[in-house]
Amino acid sequence: MHVVVHYAEIALKGRNRPRFEQLLCRQLRRALAPLGDVRVRRLFGRLLVELPSDVKFEEVRRRIGLVFGVAYFSRASVLKPTLEAIQAEVDAFVDGASFETFGVRARRADKKHPWTSSELNRDLGARIAERTGKKVDLSNPDLWVELHLLSEEAILLWQKIPGPGGLPVGSAGHAVALISGGIDSPVAAYRVLKRGLELVYVHFHSVPYTSAASQYKVRDLVSHLARHQGPVQLYQIPFGEIQQTLVREAPAEPRIVLYRRFMLRVAEAIAERERCLALITGDSLGQVSSQTLANLDTVGRAVSLPVLRPLIGMDKLEIIDLAEKIGTYETSIEPDEDCCSYLMPRRPATWTRPASIEAIENALDVKGMVDQVLSGARRERIEPEP
Ligand code: ATP
Ligand code: MG
Repeated sequence: MHVVVHYAEIALKGRNRPRFEQLLCRQLRRALAPLGDVRVRRLFGRLLVELPSDVKFEEVRRRIGLVFGVAYFSRASVLKPTLEAIQAEVDAFVDGASFETFGVRARRADKKHPWTSSELNRDLGARIAERTGKKVDLSNPDLWVELHLLSEEAILLWQKIPGPGGLPVGSAGHAVALISGGIDSPVAAYRVLKRGLELVYVHFHSVPYTSAASQYKVRDLVSHLARHQGPVQLYQIPFGEIQQTLVREAPAEPRIVLYRRFMLRVAEAIAERERCLALITGDSLGQVSSQTLANLDTVGRAVSLPVLRPLIGMDKLEIIDLAEKIGTYETSIEPDEDCCSYLMPRRPATWTRPASIEAIENALDVKGMVDQVLSGARRERIEPEP
């Protein structure tokens, strides 16, 4: 079976184009590998994917639909570049297809062929109309047939199926995503995966002070997100000791802000180890007390890497919508014991200032606390969900 993949934005990347194409090829091969022997090659500014003939197109469609960088894709037939072969294939296809309107567009890449593109358009259009009695509609046809006439082969494309868009994973570099098991952080990860970031995940849990439920949830979520990326690293970090120390040594009101600053420090250390250039969180402005502008500022100052917050301007309902669409919502709402609801103060501070938080931290062995937690980190390799 053949499929032709069209890419949109990456075609605009000038001198970077070969790199983007290679990453897209690699992601397509990876996503389709479970279906058998896959070949991907470049062809007239698209990618031609070759799969075993017995695979189900529905399965191909589902898998390509997960590969960022794909603008749209088409099932394709690869033939000898003769008029007879093309006509026979068109006949066979339209006989088995159901549609009311259709459009044809022919392109001749190799001018050695005797027919011009408009002759081919006219010939194939008339042939389909005569054979089926259906009407031509070039603006929005039910069936879109595209013919590319190359020197050694003719390629027929059937339909245009929209892909997910975005940029191939890996093209934007590497980052650490902080994932909690809640609704927001998986959506935040999805949004930057779609822009080409390759992610390493970090999860903080409070075992043995709480159950391990959040660790299981996060494994599921990461495995679901890994369908866009391939096998990924997930760091499970025991956060309970830092929380105990903070509860003992620091005032209660800014506790959440202190937790977040320590989370970012630990995540930054992992980013360094994994050569990542940013930290990703699911913060949304004003959603909870730790996400006021002042607290986001105080939290972000604990590290020097940029903290990217892709959901910053989204409403909770918009985030939930997207979580449902990408398939993380059901897992996110399963009950767990969030490490931050554990030991939550009754009245969390909404407006902390960096100077006062630093004063509190100056009385603590910050580096020792971070190192101690890092030494308990467990790294897991998570395979993509089938
Ligand atoms: P989420 O739905 O992602 O849990 P939230 O609305 O509960 O977000 P917060 O609890 O304030 O918001 O967390 C803000 C962000 O901090 C999260 O989106 C996540 O990126 C990070 N974070 C919070 N808790 C954890 C955790 N236990 N492990 C890793 N990251 C966390
Ligand atoms: Mg949360």
